[in-house]
Amino acid sequence: MAKAKESLNPFEVARKQIDRAGQKLSLDPGLLQILKHPRRELTVNFPVKMDDGSVKVFTGYRVQYNDARGPYKGGIRYHWNVSIDEVRALACWMTWKCAVMDIPYGGAKGGVICNPKEMSKGELERLTRRYASEISIVIGPEKDIPAPDVYTDSQTMAWIMDTISMHTGYSVPGVVTGKPLAIGGSLGRDEATARGAMYATREACKKLKLNTKGATVAVQGYGNAGYHYARLTHDELGCKIVAVSDSKGGIYSDKGLDPREVAAYKEKTGSVVGFPGTKKITNEELLELEVDILGPCALENVITSENAPRIKAKVSAEGANGPTTPEADDILFKKGVLVIPDILANGGGVTVSYFEWVQGLANFFWTKKEVDEKLEGVCVRAFDSVWKLSQEKKIDMRQAAYMVAISRVVEAYKWRGIWP
Ligand code: GLU
Repeated sequence: MAKAKESLNPFEVARKQIDRAGQKLSLDPGLLQILKHPRRELTVNFPVKMDDGSVKVFTGYRVQYNDARGPYKGGIRYHWNVSIDEVRALACWMTWKCAVMDIPYGGAKGGVICNPKEMSKGELERLTRRYASEISIVIGPEKDIPAPDVYTDSQTMAWIMDTISMHTGYSVPGVVTGKPLAIGGSLGRDEATARGAMYATREACKKLKLNTKGATVAVQGYGNAGYHYARLTHDELGCKIVAVSDSKGGIYSDKGLDPREVAAYKEKTGSVVGFPGTKKITNEELLELEVDILGPCALENVITSENAPRIKAKVSAEGANGPTTPEADDILFKKGVLVIPDILANGGGVTVSYFEWVQGLANFFWTKKEVDEKLEGVCVRAFDSVWKLSQEKKIDMRQAAYMVAISRVVEAYKWRGIWP
């Protein structure tokens, strides 16, 4: 990975992806400039009392990329590698994700530079509440709605919702999605990112005439996206999960793994590594395994021009945001690897966020079956529109997805005009 020749700055990658689609769409240069800039960026530096009595200052961001199609929407990430350019890229990708899934949101993202693995629950709560308070000037149920992302979860969302509600004087559940069920969450939200990726994988395999029953799968990352992706492709598509990994390394078994047992082991020991009956592999080795389906479900830039020539999977379903660089995309396309791009493959998460928001506004909640059926409809429609364009234009699925998404955002500009 370190040997990659191309830029691994996520925002440079995001802009390159826009340029590629922009060229194919012969976009007006002014519009292209708009699409390559985030509209608003907030940086906050704020103190948190640590358990040992000391005070530490943390830096966080909220980037509102584009709201031409609706309120800003996007998760909040806690990670030591968070940077303004990463948050910009993630906010940019949210814009295209909401557009390609055809849900009425723009794109935003937040992040705090911290190491949640080294913080107590109390410290995380204080960090979350103070960060929520700092960004309260830009978020709200009609303007910008955060959700979970890497190392944040429904508990984080509950603290944000409570903090904003305390500021307001009454409960404001619509300010975040990915909430616990008890305070207005939606059934199926926890597994939605992976469920969407599973539907996309199923559709891709249908097109390739690849039988998913017994198809081998390697999943990188065993958080919310990776675990549920392994579980759902195993349970609902009949796939054989031969390798999974987390930040500490990977495991391989040619007999196949039971995703739930691996999750229970990780819960107990802190990692999937060491799961009985498996061989230890590295995260890099996992990506290059001879498998049918690859699920990069961890972080950005794991598939670059350096390792792309050695990828052997037939399908790569991007549960993570930004796992593949544009240079790697070209190599994979030439090799005939079908990459289901992040903005399409993991769009199930924000889709059920939208369902949660709608259910909350209506104060009327759906059954799990209703959520899943509606999600399936959205995912299959989005997949079909991208697939059709990629076939017509003989381009890879990412470029097709960007063309579909950017066209929709551009149409919003056509109607709204440039103010004033
Ligand atoms: N963080 C998730 C993503 O990258 C979900 C965003 C949301 O639900 O708003 O798509």
